Amino acid sequence: MIDRKKLITQDAFKTTYRIIKSWTLEGHEIIWAWFEIVRPHDMSHGKGKTLLCECDFDFEIANGSKKFKNDPHECQHKKYVRDVLIPQESIREYGETWKAMGCKQAILDIFEKVKNGKLFGKYKGDVIYIQEVARLLGETDANILKLCDELFAEEQLSLNGAILIPYVSRFRFPKEIQHLLAYLIEEPLGWPNGEAGDCFLEEIEGVITEYTNFKTGKKVFGDHYPHLSPQILINFGGAWIQSGVSKLCESKSEECDLQLQVNYLKSLIDYLKVIVDETDKTMLSIQSKIVPEKND
Ligand SMILES: [Zn+2]
Repeated sequence: MIDRKKLITQDAFKTTYRIIKSWTLEGHEIIWAWFEIVRPHDMSHGKGKTLLCECDFDFEIANGSKKFKNDPHECQHKKYVRDVLIPQESIREYGETWKAMGCKQAILDIFEKVKNGKLFGKYKGDVIYIQEVARLLGETDANILKLCDELFAEEQLSLNGAILIPYVSRFRFPKEIQHLLAYLIEEPLGWPNGEAGDCFLEEIEGVITEYTNFKTGKKVFGDHYPHLSPQILINFGGAWIQSGVSKLCESKSEECDLQLQVNYLKSLIDYLKVIVDETDKTMLSIQSKIVPEKND
């Protein structure tokens, strides 16, 4: 059990903890706690909610930093509470309600609850990932991602990587353009390169929002926003491949691995053959259902 005296620390890390909920597994206590740090000497402070266990309180201070007896991040008891017990409890409590409201509404409900400090299985209470939402709703990550995409188009929710964040109305390029711009920025740095692309986008889109009349992407890019229309993708995809191939043929430099490009094009052609084949079959079956009118 965590020594209650340790919940108000007097060391260099002046922190106050208040237990909201506690679990005990094989004599090892895990707590979901509210915390506040006030360190007047360096003006640092912070507060929030966090999942802790006995390991977090079992340390010595050496050279101004904590030396834990056991790494709190590796504690199997805490992991079990976070990954199994808390999600199970949440599903018991809200599962039926989420089913009744439908998956999309349930995502918004989970996000709202997280914002209000509800813990669904993270070390910190104010963050939730797509994977955790999927686990709570018994859905695949891909399905939750698709629904988050729809919620973004409806201006209700946004994503930062896989983290759910509130939707903020501002100009944004369609996703495919965003990916391209992020890649262009990060590729010279060695793709992938952390947040360099995202930071660039945020800056450039922020400037557009502030200094132009283009205040949202939705009004600018039409019905398929936040995506490009399939037709635009095909038109530009085709044109880009054409231009890429002709530039490769002219190029005498060895910077491009020609064989790699040729292999890529071959597999692309094979893929296109399948699509054309399927389309032909569909067309034939449609034609066979059309009975010609008799002109007697
Ligand atoms: Zn522990």
